[in-house]
Amino acid sequence: MSSWRIRKRLDLDRMASLDGSYVGGLDCGTTTTKAVIIDGTRRILGSCVRKSGANLLESAETALEEALSSAGLSADQVRYIVGTGFGRRSISFAHQTKTEISCHSKGCHHYYPEAITVIDIGGQDNKVVKLDSSGRKSSFKMNRKCAAGTGAFLEEMAYKLDVPVSELEGLARKSSSGTELGSFCTVFTATEVLDRIRGGEKLEDIVRGLFNSVAKRILEMDRLTGRVIISGGVVAHNPIVAEIISERANIEVEIAPHPQEMGAFGAALFAAESVAREAGEEDKLSVARR
Ligand code: ADP
Repeated sequence: MSSWRIRKRLDLDRMASLDGSYVGGLDCGTTTTKAVIIDGTRRILGSCVRKSGANLLESAETALEEALSSAGLSADQVRYIVGTGFGRRSISFAHQTKTEISCHSKGCHHYYPEAITVIDIGGQDNKVVKLDSSGRKSSFKMNRKCAAGTGAFLEEMAYKLDVPVSELEGLARKSSSGTELGSFCTVFTATEVLDRIRGGEKLEDIVRGLFNSVAKRILEMDRLTGRVIISGGVVAHNPIVAEIISERANIEVEIAPHPQEMGAFGAALFAAESVAREAGEEDKLSVARR
């Protein structure tokens, strides 16, 4: 059992009364787990991105320990933790959980406090969320039934093409023409891609075609309006996706700061709010006692 879990068990009830003003957000995704530590001014002090693997709790603990270490902090200095993402219920030591839609929205609204459309392209799902200027959701669309156009789609195609996923972006940028792939489903796209390579099409054009497919899937989800912000691991490693969406929708598209950690950052913002609320309630209690 890790030291964090032991500390957690001992300190959970004491945490709320500790003086430190640090809080954490953990985003346990299908593909990666992200941890972010922020201070009272909402500044990021430390973060970590690692593979989620099979043991989500262990991955969350390790991500948190690494984020704490990069912040130069110890676990007992963290007052509150909010968990989010597909595996949020596995983070047994989190004080609270929130959906990833809420956390990505919260994080993006922090940087863009106006009406925005948030696109999140993650490992196994895509989301398009519209927020009003106060950060309230006015609509959201999510695909969770199919891998087409997600990070998993790109990983599967990279595997089939025998290219590291980290090289896809560089290859696509070498393409002068690109191509349109006709298939929707990941399995049929893999067959189409391999057929086209055998037919003599250039690898870089095919890879550019894969990113075209990702953009197309997003644009089919909802109409993009207002200021458009993209977050998630796909765009963090493949900013070309934002460019293609922008070209195709003829609208400016901005990549969020620290796009892959945006959900964890939003979770940390919720944690900061909870601590502030608790402090407010304590203040009211002490006033009442006087
Ligand atoms: P989730 O939160 O759903 O687990 P992320 O938002 O972290 O997923 O996005 C994961 C996706 O990001 C992967 O499926 C992959 O497409 C892409 N990705 C992650 N790491 C890399 C990398 N080093 N190089 C290229 N792409 C990456």
